[in-house]
Amino acid sequence: MGKLDLETIAATLTGLGQVRVQGDACIRGKSPRVTCRRCQEVCPVKGVDLGNDRPGIKDCQRCGLCAVACPVGALEDPERTHSFFLARGRESIVATGKALFACNRGLADHRRDGWIMASCLGAVAPEVILALAVRGQVGFRYLPEECAGCTWGDKGERLFRSSFAWAQQALGAMGLPGERLIRGGDLKPAPAHGGATGRAGGPVPAVMGRREFFRSLVCKIKIPGVEITPLSQSPQAVNARSRALILQQALEEARPAGGYPATARLPLATLKVTGPCYLCNICSRLCPAGALELEEGELRFNPSRCNHCGLCLAVCPQHSLAWGEDLPLETMAAGATCTLAIATEHRCASCGETFQAGATAMECLRCTLSRELPGVAARRSGA
Ligand code: SF4
Repeated sequence: MGKLDLETIAATLTGLGQVRVQGDACIRGKSPRVTCRRCQEVCPVKGVDLGNDRPGIKDCQRCGLCAVACPVGALEDPERTHSFFLARGRESIVATGKALFACNRGLADHRRDGWIMASCLGAVAPEVILALAVRGQVGFRYLPEECAGCTWGDKGERLFRSSFAWAQQALGAMGLPGERLIRGGDLKPAPAHGGATGRAGGPVPAVMGRREFFRSLVCKIKIPGVEITPLSQSPQAVNARSRALILQQALEEARPAGGYPATARLPLATLKVTGPCYLCNICSRLCPAGALELEEGELRFNPSRCNHCGLCLAVCPQHSLAWGEDLPLETMAAGATCTLAIATEHRCASCGETFQAGATAMECLRCTLSRELPGVAARRSGA
């Protein structure tokens, strides 16, 4: 009897067979100075082609690592989005008090009940781990010897270890117990308690998504001589909140009544201005997350929107932006903005004219440019 795997049918018919590239979200091509190739570096099968301005997916094995490594969310596994893991984890915490993740390359099908299966542990984003740890215990079935034998190499394991360490550090800064995060080979799924339960003990998703709809159709098909392998239960992904928003929501949720202490910081860098800022608006216009805005002569930075892609650092013509100190928890939780530069009046040290710029500017933009660009100097001198 032939075997027909519904995962394959679904992938073929709905285009779910590979990681999806989200429009023009990729920051490559926005400036010649952007050198990001994180998706390519993390891909275990050399499946990402960066020959063009946006990534081309050649040989996708659906490990999901690029979706975690990409700073701007330009890549996404349509079935295993960050929202999906968040939703599954929350359901599991409601039903059993914990969310347990396992890599589907390490567990036999018959042992998967009670686990949230990921194609690789590295595919679970650090913000998702933290957001779940705010509500309950989060465990990973992690066996280094199993990872060592993985044919995809060690990229997934390294990503997982760094995401886990980041979430641990953030959890500590929030004052939550470190035992909320566990990893090891001897974790056991707990029996479900309370609530309407699905196959893995979580509530049955209330709304039918594209995948559920497809399953409901296909599961009723009978093909003579073909055995249908049932699809694993998967709730519909909730909305597509960005990872920064997931993080902000987690911080808000666990925020103490009096707010976080001023010394509590997230392991995430803020932006700072290290050179002359002429408030030229280039960084704020190009920021893909809307984290920078220029308003009323002030350049403001909103850390809760920042995805740390680094595009602003690359495009600033004066190279005046840099990563600064770790971000105060309270700033992120409150969605507060930081003022990076305020336009004030200066007198140019070279030409003596007045100009508007941030605090550290000594020369006007024209004098600065005429030193850097010989063509401008020639035009100014009438040559
Ligand atoms: S922005 Fe994302 S998709 Fe573009 S090169 Fe960087 S990691 Fe790859």
